[in-house]
Amino acid sequence: MNIIFVLLVVADFSCQDDGMKKKATAGLYQSKKSEGPRSCSLPKLNDWYKRCYRRFLVDIHIPDWDKRFLSKLDAKTYVNTLAKGKSSGIMLYCNSHVGPTLYPSKLGPVHKAIGRGDFVADALKAARRKQLSVVAYYSAVYNNAAFLAHPDWRIIPHQGESPYEHSRYGTCCPNSPYRDFAVAQTEELCGRYEFDGIFFDMLFWPYACYCPHCRARFLKEEGEDIPSVIDWNNPTWMAFQRARERWMSELAGLLTAAVRRTRSSMTVTHQLSPVLHGWRTAMPYSLTEHCDYASGDFYGPPVQQSLVCKIFEALSVRKPFEFMTSRCLDLWDHVTLKGASLMEMQAFLAPAHAGAFMFIDAIDPVGTLNRRVYERIGGIFPKLAPYEKFLGGDLAADVALYVSSESRFDFRENGTLIGASSKRADNMTSETGMPHMEAVMGAARSLQENHIPYAVVTQRNLARLSDYRVVVLPNGRVMSDAEVEAFRAYVAGGGALYASGYSSLIADDGTLRKDFGLADVFGVSAHTMMDHTLAFFTPQEKRFTSLVEPQEHLIHRGGWIQIENRSAKVLADLTKPWCPENEGSVLRPSFASIHSTPPGWTAFAPGITWHRYGKGCACYASGPIEAEPQKVNRPVFVGLIRRLHGGTFPVEAQAPAFIELTVFDKPSERRLNLSLVSLRQEEEPIPCGGTVRVLLGEARHPVALRVLPSHRKYPFRDIPGGIEFTFSDFEIFSMFELEYRNS
Ligand SMILES: [Zn+2]
Repeated sequence: MNIIFVLLVVADFSCQDDGMKKKATAGLYQSKKSEGPRSCSLPKLNDWYKRCYRRFLVDIHIPDWDKRFLSKLDAKTYVNTLAKGKSSGIMLYCNSHVGPTLYPSKLGPVHKAIGRGDFVADALKAARRKQLSVVAYYSAVYNNAAFLAHPDWRIIPHQGESPYEHSRYGTCCPNSPYRDFAVAQTEELCGRYEFDGIFFDMLFWPYACYCPHCRARFLKEEGEDIPSVIDWNNPTWMAFQRARERWMSELAGLLTAAVRRTRSSMTVTHQLSPVLHGWRTAMPYSLTEHCDYASGDFYGPPVQQSLVCKIFEALSVRKPFEFMTSRCLDLWDHVTLKGASLMEMQAFLAPAHAGAFMFIDAIDPVGTLNRRVYERIGGIFPKLAPYEKFLGGDLAADVALYVSSESRFDFRENGTLIGASSKRADNMTSETGMPHMEAVMGAARSLQENHIPYAVVTQRNLARLSDYRVVVLPNGRVMSDAEVEAFRAYVAGGGALYASGYSSLIADDGTLRKDFGLADVFGVSAHTMMDHTLAFFTPQEKRFTSLVEPQEHLIHRGGWIQIENRSAKVLADLTKPWCPENEGSVLRPSFASIHSTPPGWTAFAPGITWHRYGKGCACYASGPIEAEPQKVNRPVFVGLIRRLHGGTFPVEAQAPAFIELTVFDKPSERRLNLSLVSLRQEEEPIPCGGTVRVLLGEARHPVALRVLPSHRKYPFRDIPGGIEFTFSDFEIFSMFELEYRNS
């Protein structure tokens, strides 16, 4: 089957009737990129990571209570098997969550199977013979041997040590003397071996810790006892969360410093998969200060993987970042090999974001690997290799999602005793249990399905807001005064903001502001806190009505804030149901329809508003429509984003929804890389096609379009201000290079 999706007429999304001052002529991302954290002076390092895009990691979390465990581990065989997978680098276990090292450490237990040998030295030597880059793997915090040997080092949950009875993982507190042990062992390891880099896994909190070290430190730093009831409106609870983040970040800094002073050319990074985790793990985005590049493992659906690539792109001090996932279905499954096309789709998602990719395998307890797994990957990795020399550049987008590290919680947990809360969010699923992250994920999916390239902005790079024509602030929980001020300045200066739900209502210490911090920008005031009962958005304005049609309302279950209009235009009202959803019975028939709960008779409050502020404008939704699961919400949300943009997106595609379009600009080479990657991961690929349109603006002119990696010229059609081309027989990945000249 060969489906060609024909270019649809691009509607006129001009913002004129909304009065937003139009920016310069539409064209390709010509704004000067602001200075971000990557511009600070960086230590000189071995640059292996710039050349190594295909990587392997074999988990060796094997204990030594059975003498058969790792009895067949042979470094040469191990490396020879990995080499069949055609990677350009490997990560090598030096210890594991179990604790014993695979090299003869003088500071802690050595795995019994290693005996007097040295697996790390032998594997390093064998890998060098194969010209493989080698990064050391070190499990910090998670160390069963240290946990067992030193009860004083343990992370102590609020309810005591009972949770460990059902957990395989023993974890050590960074405020205990464990910290000195981890630093000393890092120095020992990096002093002994010439690795290219080191990766520290597991620098996060599995539980909030109530050990004597943490209690004493909190008392000293904050003058209070550690609170035991979750309360996101309580400054003491908020201070505890910030302290946990600070303490974990401090350990990361100490480990990075230990590497730098021992072998200064080595790269250092720490596991960043908790960027999507909930508050419990308390890994702040600022921990990236201690990472040379962003890296983390993820096992969720495509939308999660696609989003995390943008978060890593935004956070990574150096490029490429590293995306890891398992060759088995997930980390809990030791045997089920993913299908070849699924593996290929996941692997290509990284180069589509100019990132490096790593497959994670897990060793058999006796120490052997399944050779055929590497033969399969050996059929996939060589397909990635020819693209590598073309990767790099700046992720180009007109739209950015704002992701708030501090907003990774739910106010509905308030009042819960800490040990009683079961809410968890991790890297295995896209269901986060965090309203902010759910709204981020929904917005990401809507943009991806509509082929609108997007980027991510975090508090780490607030100065970059003005790089984007539209910024989405999806139901942020807490915002500092500095964040509020940055958003106000962004809109005043001509930016277009979509914000929803709580955004700017709560300060970063958890206290409720008198009104939205951005009330003047939104043109509306907050009247009450969020209500989580059923409501409906009912269009009140012609253009918004046309987005929702043929429906007359959008159902909304994700919570809403009652607002009062000050000076905004109302696009939609909020309507409550005739009767509350959970009321009514056969004996007391207070319902309006026996199965469903229809919208009531009159509107209740403004729901979605539009407001001009300074040179820009803001669209505020009192409930996060972008987070709702109903498919209809996605085009409605994207319709608002198009309207905020006010022009035509510089790069857009007409293609099936499962295709993701990314754009990297390499201004020094006067080239754009346009990647198309399939996110149809749960099914086999089917050939399809579509159209891509690129507007270069007045200052750039097309020279040639080439298909990569062959670099052969590819036909395109001139259109006013740019080019348009079609693609067909697309299955998993395509990359095009558009060469331009500046006038
Ligand atoms: Zn502690």
